[in-house]
Amino acid sequence: MEVIGTSLLCVIGAPLILLFAAIWHFSGVQCPGCKRRRTIRWVHERKDGGPDRRYNDNYRYCTWCRWNELTGSPRPPPTPDEISAQEAQRVAQQREREARVAREAPVRALVALLKRVAKADRQLTAAERAAIGAHAHRIFPGVVSDRQLELWLDDVDATDTCATYADGIDRAHWPEVLAAAEQLTLADGRATPAERRMLDEVRAALTRREEAERS
Ligand SMILES: [Zn+2]
Repeated sequence: MEVIGTSLLCVIGAPLILLFAAIWHFSGVQCPGCKRRRTIRWVHERKDGGPDRRYNDNYRYCTWCRWNELTGSPRPPPTPDEISAQEAQRVAQQREREARVAREAPVRALVALLKRVAKADRQLTAAERAAIGAHAHRIFPGVVSDRQLELWLDDVDATDTCATYADGIDRAHWPEVLAAAEQLTLADGRATPAERRMLDEVRAALTRREEAERS
């Protein structure tokens, strides 16, 4: 008897539960965007799900596809919180970019300076490129990637003078910079007159700034 009762309950109960679930589901508002039901909410909602009348810019949106009744578009206009979060992120990214540029600036100046020295004889050989990269990594370890160095070595030559580049490099590094420049001009055994002139230019640039700082 008990077995029959339980079976009966299952036979009648299961469809009933499904029926109530279906009624509950289909009585919900359907989203015009994604056609789902019961995903529509008010932006300013009361505890019972109704609109909070204190806000006259209230509107409904879909929590699933982000449809909203103002624009009908799948995304509602960003809330003030979302806007300030995006703005904060943008500012943080901008600061990070500026910090990176500032960190890399001396390396960039060094590469430009050494490139100018190497190109005194009108060419930048693969060996010279490699040597400049090695100097950059040695004098400023871990600041820039090989890829970044390659890009700078490929850069179209700026018309800046050695003095401008020297200004971008901290004084503590100058002896190393000068040694690197000397090494570069002597890489193929001897310095050509053009290379010697360029080296003089580098020395003059460093000396000039040293004197300027002393006075
Ligand atoms: Zn939707």
